[in-house]
Amino acid sequence: MLDTRPAWIDEIKIAAITCVVVLLACLLGIFSRSMGHLAGLWPANALLLGMFVRFPFLNKPCGWLGAVAAYIASEVLSGESWPSSLLLSAGNLACVIVGCMLFSWLDAGHRRLKHPLSVLYLALIAVTCAATAGIVNTIADSVLSNDSHLKAWTFWSVTELVNLLAILPVILSLPNVSKFRINRRRSKDIYRLKIHKLLPVGTLFASFALGIMLGGPGALAFPIPALLWCALSYGIFTTSIMTLLYSGWVLISMSLGYLPISIVNMNSRSMLLSIRTGVSMLALAPLTVASVMAAREELLRHLEYIAEHDALTGLLNRRAFYERALNLLGELAQQEKPVAVLMLDIDKFKGVNDNYGHAGGDQVLVAFARIASSSLRDVDMLGRIGGEEFAAILPSCAHEEADRIAQRIRVSLANKSIDIGDGQQISVTVSIGCTFVIRAVQDIEALLVVADKALYRAKENGRNRVEYHNFDEVKNDNGQTPSKQA
Ligand code: GH3
Ligand code: MG
Ligand code: MG
Repeated sequence: MLDTRPAWIDEIKIAAITCVVVLLACLLGIFSRSMGHLAGLWPANALLLGMFVRFPFLNKPCGWLGAVAAYIASEVLSGESWPSSLLLSAGNLACVIVGCMLFSWLDAGHRRLKHPLSVLYLALIAVTCAATAGIVNTIADSVLSNDSHLKAWTFWSVTELVNLLAILPVILSLPNVSKFRINRRRSKDIYRLKIHKLLPVGTLFASFALGIMLGGPGALAFPIPALLWCALSYGIFTTSIMTLLYSGWVLISMSLGYLPISIVNMNSRSMLLSIRTGVSMLALAPLTVASVMAAREELLRHLEYIAEHDALTGLLNRRAFYERALNLLGELAQQEKPVAVLMLDIDKFKGVNDNYGHAGGDQVLVAFARIASSSLRDVDMLGRIGGEEFAAILPSCAHEEADRIAQRIRVSLANKSIDIGDGQQISVTVSIGCTFVIRAVQDIEALLVVADKALYRAKENGRNRVEYHNFDEVKNDNGQTPSKQA
C-alpha cells in the first residue's frame, strides 16, 4: 500500500515556511510604518518572489496558500478592516505573480544573476512588478484614502521597487547549501583568512561613517567606490549583501537623522521617493560588475578545464599531468612518503584502428580511461600523456599496493567487452610498467623513464602484464638519476 503521508507532510511544511516568512516580513513592514513613510520597508513581496524563484519547490499551490493566509492575517492583525486587508493582499500577490511569470521566461543562469545582462533583466522585472503592485494598490488606495491616483501609484510603485531591488539579488544569488559545508581544507583556510580580503568591506563601513560625519547630498555616493571594490573582490552573493547594507544605511540613517542631507526637504514625499529610487539604481552598478566578474570567472574556469584536459577521455592532458605530478611529488618528498608511478599502454592498438576504424579506436580509449579511473583510488592521479599511453601517480603507495592497483586495471580491462558502435563488441588488453620508491623524489621525468623501462619489458614478455622496476635500484646501478638517454 502506498504511504501518502510524506507528501502531505511536505505540503504542510511548504505552506508553513511561506506563511511564517511572509507573516514575519509583513509584520516588520507594518511595524516600520510607525517610523513614517521614510522607512518604506516592505520586504514581504521581494522575499516571497525571491523564494519562489530561487527554490522552485516552494512555488506550489500549498506555498501560495500559506502566503495568502499570511498576507491577509498580517493586515487583519494590524487592525485593517477585512475589505482593505483583502485589497492590500491582492496588491502584494499581483506583484509576486507577475514576478514569477517573468522570471520563468529567463534561463536558470539569469535567475541566479550569473550573466552580464542578468541585473538588467532583474531591474526590468522589478519595475514591472512594482508598477503592477502600484496599480492594484492604487485601486485599493482610492477606496481607502483620498490621495490622487498618480501620487498613490508613484508611492506604492517606488516603495515596492526599492524593496525588490534591495532584497531580490540576495535571495537569487544565495549559494547552494552544499557550498556552506566547510570541508577540512576550507576550515583551515578560514584561519589563514588574508587581511586584504577584508579591506573592501572595511572601506565600505568607513565610507558609511564618513557619510554620516560629513553629510550633504554627496554623502549618498561616498560608498560607491567601496561597493565597486567589493564587486571586484567578492562573489555576487556577498556583493548583494553589501548593496543591501548600503540601501539600508541610506534609508535608515536618513530617517533617523544621522545622515544630514540638507537640500532634502524631509517632509517632501516626492523628494524622498526620488532619493529612494536613486539609491536603488546606484546599487545596481556594483551588482552588474559582480555578475560580469562571475561570468568572467566561469569562462576562465571553463577555459582552464579545456586547457588541462584531454577532449576525448576527459583525463588530464600531458602538460597538466606533468605540472600536477610535480606538485604532488613535491608534497610527498617533503613528507618523505613512498610513491608508485605507472605507465600504461594499450596493446596492439594500431590493430584496433586498422580493423575497426579510428572511431572504434576512440571508443576503446574512452572505455579504458573510464576503467582505469574507477580502478584507481581517489587520491591517485591519471593522465593521458600520448596517443594510447597513460600515466598514473599513486601517492603513499608501497610495492604491494601498487601491484594490486595495477593488476586491478589490467584484469578489469581484459574482462570488459567494449561497445564500439554498430553492435560490435571487442576486448583489448593493456601492458603496465610500474616503478616505486620508498621516499618520493620530485622528478616526474625520471620516474616515468623507469616506469617506461618496466613497460618495455611487459611488452617484450608477451603483453597484458605488469612489470616492475625499483626506482632506487636503477639509481644505484647508474649512480645517477635516470634520464631518457639512460
Ligand atoms: P603495442 O602493443 O606495442 O603498444 O602496439 P600498438 O599498436 O599499440 O603501438 P603503437 O604505438 O605502434 O600504436 C599506437 C597507435 O595509436 C598509433 C596511432 O595511430 C594510434 N592513436 C594515437 N592517438 C590516437 C587517438 O586519439 N585515437 C585513435 N583511434 N588512435 C590513436
Ligand atoms: Mg604506444
Ligand atoms: Mg600500444
